[in-house]
Amino acid sequence: MPTTLLWFRRDLRLADLPALAAAHDAAGDGQILPVFVVDPVLWSGSGAVRTHCLVEALEGVRRATDGALVIRTGPAATVIPQLAREVGASSIHVSGETTPYGRRRDEAVRTALSGTPGPAGAGARDQVDLVATGTPYAVGPGRLHTQEGRPFRVFTPFSRAWREHGWPAPAEVPTGVRWLTGVAGEDLPAAPEGAGAGSVPVTEAGARRRWSAFLAAGLDHYDSTRDRPDLDGTSLMSVHLKFGTIHPRTLLADIARHPGAGSAAAIRFVTELCWREFYADVLWHNPGSAWADLRDGLAGLRYRDPATDSACAADLEAWRQGRTGYPLVDAGMRQLRTEGWMHNRVRMVTASFLTKDLHVWWPVGARHFLALLRDGDVASNNHGWQWTAGTGTDAAPYFRVFNPVTQGSRFDPQGDYVRRYIPELRHLPGSAAHEPWTHPEGYRHGYPPRIVDHAQERRDALARYEQARAAGTA
Ligand code: FAD
Repeated sequence: MPTTLLWFRRDLRLADLPALAAAHDAAGDGQILPVFVVDPVLWSGSGAVRTHCLVEALEGVRRATDGALVIRTGPAATVIPQLAREVGASSIHVSGETTPYGRRRDEAVRTALSGTPGPAGAGARDQVDLVATGTPYAVGPGRLHTQEGRPFRVFTPFSRAWREHGWPAPAEVPTGVRWLTGVAGEDLPAAPEGAGAGSVPVTEAGARRRWSAFLAAGLDHYDSTRDRPDLDGTSLMSVHLKFGTIHPRTLLADIARHPGAGSAAAIRFVTELCWREFYADVLWHNPGSAWADLRDGLAGLRYRDPATDSACAADLEAWRQGRTGYPLVDAGMRQLRTEGWMHNRVRMVTASFLTKDLHVWWPVGARHFLALLRDGDVASNNHGWQWTAGTGTDAAPYFRVFNPVTQGSRFDPQGDYVRRYIPELRHLPGSAAHEPWTHPEGYRHGYPPRIVDHAQERRDALARYEQARAAGTA
């Protein structure tokens, strides 16, 4: 009876998992061995909060597989072929990976499996195939093209093509799956100390619970609440999509069945899911855009470098600590530090502040976000940063500089969000919390003064942009 391997990566669930159905089909009457490889490269780059979420999600998978989940540490190109040999697996099943690192890793595993010496030096000939079924997206990255056959670079036509293309119904959980238990593995790694758990566990059940609550009480108001950091107005699905404790296809199918499926709010929500798919597609076609400008239009722009400029390093640290003196920026950066999450509107404002008020190149900020975000995802994060910085797709024009004070008064009108994260401003009533400098008692509890003058830095940002333009790069 054949045994198959089901190698979990960022798809840590059993429901709507086409790779599970494929592993089950291939196993026939045989058994499936579920495995997770602790890849030292990814593990060390994940940050404590995301590592905590990963451990939580793995505990969920271990329970769901009757304790069969095997954990092994090492380069996947070594671990997977070795485990396949150990249990005599006939095939290895995965969700297709789409990030540059994941694609390289899977190629290395394929090479190792086919007997060609791979980068990790695995050389044994092995006839076991690595079979990718589905991806973590409704429409797999790389699938859609413009009418001219080119990759999309602009969101609106991509979203049109994405809706027209459509997606299959969620995959059924196969019945009669038999897990292969008792294979030697390691204990689950300990979750890092001090990395706070979120309000909803990052497990399949946790994802379902939060999603049901949002469907019942949040979706219908989404278009009016989604921009308000002071309200619980968004789905909080990003961490679940990141770890695959739920698949976007499941969300889309539930929305299609929802009584308000055709409402502006539901359409808006689907559009937001599409942004995630768009950025994954952009990264698929442009692996280099993970850490370099997608457009070279601003290549000549002058940035301050925290490595060589101590004043810039101090400003950067104030931004990281939430001590810039701009309440909305500081509340967001403190929310990031304490919760590993930040509201989308505030991500845009804090990213704009770093790139256009402090004149620091976006990868510096993107790295900091990725170190701390529960939902840290290279495609959405780094292209979200590029969107704000003006170097990416649909780039907000460089000259559009978010004003942190007016953004605060508009999207946190009573100042509740700011007071929640900044105790030094809790004595200020209503929207006064956004402008402590206008209140006689504004600085009584030690809130720091503004590190820069936004109006002046805006002018400076525009001057830098004009200079790059004159040099012919923008
Ligand atoms: P909802 O408003 O409920 O949206 C539903 C889902 O749509 C989200 O879970 C997410 O999967 C998707 N989505 C919504 N907005 C965007 C967007 N602008 N880009 C891509 N997908 C989107 N999102 C991440 O998942 N990981 C990141 O690392 C990340 N970094 C970001 C960095 C910056 C500078 C910016 C501006 C945005 C970033 N985003 C990132 C996008 C967005 O901020 C988060 O997806 C959103 O705040 C998550 O909260 P939610 O699940 O409640 O969102």
